[in-house]
Amino acid sequence: MEPLKDAAIALPPAALRWDWGAVRTVGQFAPSLWRHASSISRLTGAFSKITEGVITDPFIQNWLNLLCFLLSGLPASDTSAAEVAFMFAEWYRPQVALDYPIGGSAGLVDALVRGLQRQGGELWLNAHVEQILVENNCATGVQLRNGKVMRARRAVISNASVWDTLRLLPAGSVSSAFRRKRQATPPCDSFMHLHLGIDATHIRSDLACHYIAVNDWNRGITAAQNVILVSIPSVLDPSLAPEGKHVIHVYTPGNEPYDLWQGLDRRSEAYAQRKQERSEVMWQALERIIPDIRSRCEVTLIGTPLTHERYLRRHRGSYGPAISAAKGLFPTGQTPLAGLFCCGDSTFPGIGLPAVAASGMIVANTLAPLDQHLAMLEDIGVGR
Ligand SMILES: Cc1cc2nc3c(=O)[nH]c(=O)nc-3n(C[C@H](O)[C@H](O)[C@H](O)COP(=O)(O)OP(=O)(O)OC[C@H]3O[C@@H](n4cnc5c(N)ncnc54)[C@H](O)[C@@H]3O)c2cc1C
Repeated sequence: MEPLKDAAIALPPAALRWDWGAVRTVGQFAPSLWRHASSISRLTGAFSKITEGVITDPFIQNWLNLLCFLLSGLPASDTSAAEVAFMFAEWYRPQVALDYPIGGSAGLVDALVRGLQRQGGELWLNAHVEQILVENNCATGVQLRNGKVMRARRAVISNASVWDTLRLLPAGSVSSAFRRKRQATPPCDSFMHLHLGIDATHIRSDLACHYIAVNDWNRGITAAQNVILVSIPSVLDPSLAPEGKHVIHVYTPGNEPYDLWQGLDRRSEAYAQRKQERSEVMWQALERIIPDIRSRCEVTLIGTPLTHERYLRRHRGSYGPAISAAKGLFPTGQTPLAGLFCCGDSTFPGIGLPAVAASGMIVANTLAPLDQHLAMLEDIGVGR
């Protein structure tokens, strides 16, 4: 992966923007892109193209396939080679560990909010956008559910998923061909979740933060109920649970079919029963790590695709678009509606926090004047 990872970072994502200014910002990296030209050409397309015929050990093949699935929600045959190479570059930088953020997932959110506020931004919670306002064929702001209107100074940027963003666009604001095409983006499957608070008295002393259970490699890593992820972040950061307790998140990563849940009433007996049935694989995976787990639980919450859809407010509780790298790239953040940009996991480069952060940065760059963008690249130490 060594030359491929060097090629994957030859162009910093911070240099990208969705307009002609990219000729200047990306152009400065032409010499290094040229140096890595042969590796770069191998990064286009799916990761499996790189491993085929090279990796013959079945376990390593399976492991890389699993790694791709956890990154993109798709197997190696559909995961971008550039994305995997980029992640290798991250993981194998000196002093880097793939663990868990201090302060839990909220630690990441807090960091983003601090950055936003430092630039004079404001975060409004409980502010459901009912509609994107369009005047004279231009997105000019948003209307909230409580009737409040927010006018945009420069642009409206949506990081809701492609399907959820389309719902916010008034009829006729984009062509029906565009709407149909984007609406047809295939979604990855959804999740089952187990959120537990447990008594950690006399628990095994070698408890780790992360475990992955694969029940049967032969079923394939995308098969429903086959791959189960376990995180016990209070092992690394005791502030995440009261003394003597652990907090555990078990989930089936993007492999729970939404169709099994669609239309079920969340208060019905049938729903409760399905929850018990479909959570069993997660309990069994956890029992392989903590055999007496069921008797230790003080808090037990089971999440389903309907929970995921409702709390994360995502179409079909999906992990994100299932866009195969073998067929094409995620769309850019531009839209045919003037003044409307998109970022997040429905846009290039794709799913996952690093990719999503990059997509937001690229849209911000696009809105910034070119000289300010160039100065920012100098400032963060990547400009030439
Ligand atoms: C269980 C799980 C584990 C994961 N683990 C990792 C990991 O280890 N590493 C990693 O890199 N990635 C991981 N991911 C993927 C990563 O979390 C996502 O790719 C990323 O959060 C997507 O960010 P986003 O901004 O595109 O979308 P979202 O995070 O879904 O943000 C969209 C926001 O829009 C809001 N919204 C929607 N509609 C409206 C509306 N009408 N009005 C106002 N607000 C609205 C939603 O409430 C939501 O807050 C994981 C995902 C899951 C589910």
